[in-house]
Amino acid sequence: MSEPSVGVYVHIPFCDRVCPYCDFAVVGGGVSADMQGRYVEALCQELAQRRDAFAGRRLDSLYFGGGTPSLLATGQIAQLVRSLREAFPEATADLEVTLEVNPSTLERDRLPGFREAGVNRLSIGIQSFDDQVLKRLGRAHLADEGRKTLAAARRAGFDNLSLDLLFAAPGQSLAQLEADLQETVAFAPEHVSTYELVVEAGTPFALADRRGQLERADSDAAADMVEAIDAALGSIGLAAYELTNYALSGRESAHNQRYWKREPVLGLGVGAWSSDPAGEGAPHGARLANTRSLPDYLDRTQRGDPASVSREVLAASTARAETVFLALRTQVGLDAARFARGFGGPPRTWYGGEIDELVRNGLLLESPEGDLRVSARGRMLMDLVCERFVEVVDEVPFD
Ligand code: SF4
Repeated sequence: MSEPSVGVYVHIPFCDRVCPYCDFAVVGGGVSADMQGRYVEALCQELAQRRDAFAGRRLDSLYFGGGTPSLLATGQIAQLVRSLREAFPEATADLEVTLEVNPSTLERDRLPGFREAGVNRLSIGIQSFDDQVLKRLGRAHLADEGRKTLAAARRAGFDNLSLDLLFAAPGQSLAQLEADLQETVAFAPEHVSTYELVVEAGTPFALADRRGQLERADSDAAADMVEAIDAALGSIGLAAYELTNYALSGRESAHNQRYWKREPVLGLGVGAWSSDPAGEGAPHGARLANTRSLPDYLDRTQRGDPASVSREVLAASTARAETVFLALRTQVGLDAARFARGFGGPPRTWYGGEIDELVRNGLLLESPEGDLRVSARGRMLMDLVCERFVEVVDEVPFD
């Protein structure tokens, strides 16, 4: 049995400008020094309020996401790393501390300072090396900024870099994606996260889509792109350890893996989510969502009120289904013995019919021990596989 641990996600909501496909909790127009200071103070207040729910746990990963966390000053990131390490004095050796960075001159200049602040992994929002694609996405940077940021990250001594690549962008051809992949392969990062463009309701892209103004890739074109990604990244030893995440062996993201294993995560900041550990009245844990409004977040933390606006106590059926389909997203799949320890029986106790059907249709592989993994075909039809495990939740989830 592994020792109880916690991962921390810190959301920094500021961005230079809001991309037209983004539905994260973000505030455009950059950030003033005064607001930076107030926000960091609010994060420390929230940490003080919430740390007891994770008391005694070993700090296993630290992730600054956004928004654009690298818009904070290096001293502020250092202060947050210090406060979090003080709140959780037991930490994994070589604690993974990730900072999301967007390509820009300002952020590039700060990279050595972020390293001194304790950041040892960067997740860089490259998205594409094609100016046309970046412009259509409404990104604030052009391809050269991306290249310069990657070079600056290596110069600053970061040996654990993750690139974000977006595919099936409006009007993006397979040839354009292949060119992005060629450049990625030449740079040889330790990790790549790929994202198929999703048109989220309420975004400018959703409006353009409704008006027929968004040139979207169809599912066949998107599937061809996934194949191209697999082949190119595989050629430099980056394995798909999860559906859309690729890494060299030993460079898989500790933070992401916590979500797929349903391990506790303390989320701090505007719009952050937490997965609280099992406790009294919540035998399968609880999920908390923070307010998405920056003024509300600042008010709440200043008053000493919780930043969360909802708390979902997970029903056993929800927890079981999530455990299965999140594990099936990963290359290692679902460990039947671990599942049985958590729920009192192997997956077949609840999902015998579903497993038989998916195995019969060639979408799922089952080992003699009952461990489950999706097949190559199942990976392409992941939504279909997941649907089979999602049950109607019959308990009132919010209080
Ligand atoms: S940079 Fe990222 S977080 Fe900021 S608006 Fe664009 S997609 Fe959203």
